[in-house]
Amino acid sequence: MLTRLAPSPTGALHLGNARTFLVNWALARQNGWRVLLRIEDLDGPRVKAGASEGAIEILQWLGLDWDIGPVSQTDDLTPYRAALERLVSRGLAYPCRCTRSQILAASLSAPHAGDHELRYPGTCRPAPGERIDLSRLDDPEVSWRFLTPDEPVPFNDAFAGPQSFNPQLEVGDFLVATKQCQPSYQLAVVVDDARQGVTQVVRGDDLLGCTSRQLLLYRALGLGPEPAYTHLPLVVGEDGRRLAKRHGDTRLSHYRDRGVSPERVIGLLAEWCGLGGRREMSATEFAERFELASMPSEQVVFAAVDDRWLGS
Ligand code: GLU
Repeated sequence: MLTRLAPSPTGALHLGNARTFLVNWALARQNGWRVLLRIEDLDGPRVKAGASEGAIEILQWLGLDWDIGPVSQTDDLTPYRAALERLVSRGLAYPCRCTRSQILAASLSAPHAGDHELRYPGTCRPAPGERIDLSRLDDPEVSWRFLTPDEPVPFNDAFAGPQSFNPQLEVGDFLVATKQCQPSYQLAVVVDDARQGVTQVVRGDDLLGCTSRQLLLYRALGLGPEPAYTHLPLVVGEDGRRLAKRHGDTRLSHYRDRGVSPERVIGLLAEWCGLGGRREMSATEFAERFELASMPSEQVVFAAVDDRWLGS
């Protein structure tokens, strides 16, 4: 069994990311899963210089470790290209020339709650039975969309329970690659999870809807076995919105640089995970005591009192 920690180096890790990574790591250590560290750096324009190194350092500072990696998605793009070719040759992906508006471009990344997701209306969808010439893959000007069936795709989430989404209704024929065959988040994550042998996906529940899309890609590409999914509620600010810059500086590096200990940070995360009143503890102790069944199913609110506990 293998799980992955998959930070996107698009910014520094904050308390919300840390909670998900800590739980993922603790589940791995409890269940004997190996851990892979995968840097999801395909989203070129949003990747920030130094953020990969920053993520690795801060995970180590928290006391987390991994058995494999770090591996970076940009190390080798050929597996994504091969998957795209397979989809096209099976008549399951088609070229699209629709103008790239900012919102469509945003759907390349993991679309987190609060981001706008447009439903693609199918403008460039080929006629039934129309063949797509593989040579179109050499056209740097086209994007590629998955011919998404109109059906619910159910799955059972280990934390959130039974789920079902119909990607066609939600987002339509979603992007699998943009210009110059740059793989989208949806395609890359499936290709990577499958080739790296990931069996356990643990992540924030803003990605629940993406799971149905990813399962469709697993099946379209003939990949498997499909991983088990565990989606965890997010940390939000007092305004109910996903933790972000507007809630002040909640980056782990900010606390570290002010001399706050990792044990103190984990103490707060542990309380948020249902371990009782906050007190300082190491990642190892957290892993010994954490129980998924006792984790609150509601979103966690980061309040001013929490910030004070961290000495800000
Ligand atoms: N790299 C993604 C993120 O930081 C995680 C994607 C995933 O776990 O599938 O949101």
